[in-house]
Amino acid sequence: MKNLRAILLVVSLITVLSLLAACGGPAPIATVAPTSPTKAPSAPTAAPAKPALKGELSLLCTPQEVWCQGMKKEFEAKYPGVTVNYIRMSSGESLTRLRNEKANPQFDIWWGGPIDSQIAAKKDGLLEPYKSPGQANIVDPKLMLDSDPVPQWVGIYVGSLGFGTNTKQTAIKPPTSFEDLIKPEMKGQIVIAHPASSGTSYTFMCTVLQIKGETAGWEYMKKFAQNVLIWTKSGAGPVTSVGKGEAAVSVVFSHDIVKGIDDDKLPLKLTFPAEGTGYEIGGMAIIKGAKNPELAKAWYDWALEAKTQELGKKYTAYQGLTIKGAVPPKPELLQVKLINYNFDYCGNNKTAFVDKFSNEIAAASLAK
Ligand code: PLP
Repeated sequence: MKNLRAILLVVSLITVLSLLAACGGPAPIATVAPTSPTKAPSAPTAAPAKPALKGELSLLCTPQEVWCQGMKKEFEAKYPGVTVNYIRMSSGESLTRLRNEKANPQFDIWWGGPIDSQIAAKKDGLLEPYKSPGQANIVDPKLMLDSDPVPQWVGIYVGSLGFGTNTKQTAIKPPTSFEDLIKPEMKGQIVIAHPASSGTSYTFMCTVLQIKGETAGWEYMKKFAQNVLIWTKSGAGPVTSVGKGEAAVSVVFSHDIVKGIDDDKLPLKLTFPAEGTGYEIGGMAIIKGAKNPELAKAWYDWALEAKTQELGKKYTAYQGLTIKGAVPPKPELLQVKLINYNFDYCGNNKTAFVDKFSNEIAAASLAK
């Protein structure tokens, strides 16, 4: 997708410029405010000291456990008076939980998972608008920030969908097209999460519906489902399952496949569909009726700092980043052919598409 390529170029340019500045680029021009020669300068009005943050933040955490745990520790180190209590849940599960708790919300903030789910949550009135100072540094606000004057969600990472094939088996060649996934020889060879529980899998389904159009897309999904051996609950689950040899091919975000290869030493090969692949913007939002809104805002502001985004790598999260100057760990994962994924279309239709899939193709109860 041209748009995203342009963003990546801008991000790289900004990174290079900041590095140049750090290495002794032209010094900034100092400006001096005019002062009155007759009056003694009045004492500067000291900004009132902010009271130290205290309390317990309830975090709904959708990325992988290791990253959730790492971010909890990092935030608590920055704010020693705060304890972060989190629960890790996949995107669809999170959405169901938030809907069930609408009258008495248990979470303050939702961090991670494709924004299709945050857009669906906004539609259901589950999110609290918030304008963070950090949103000024979003690389592409048109794509990565809710367009309301006071936004209800913001993008915190970017990831492309890929295929991870077990290299120890020789029966199946690594797929390079969506069509490869519905070939007869793929029967029982695919592991993917269920789109009702997982944002990863929903991104796959909505990618298919956009590439093919809804009529042909649903026909494709019926054929695809016949080749699936296991529907997992979590989007990244198929990496381990296929890495262990339970089936040949996983359909997962590419950064999760790279984690499987680099960190877990699994025998996997990453490929992409030549016709273009879908991608996610990972989202963040404050929950409407959050019991600790100040703590939620502190997390939100912190998550929009370049340094915070760069922490992902430390916790084996290799997504692209959304803040100017933040250096992405694996930029090549977004330098592939991407479709022009329509987040509003996928977010606003999420409930209807998931229900159709669960009722007509594969029941949500199959997710393991
Ligand atoms: N974990 C990682 C590393 C992700 O990139 C994503 C996508 O946002 C998720 C988890 C989402 O999880 P799920 O597909 O289980 O909803």
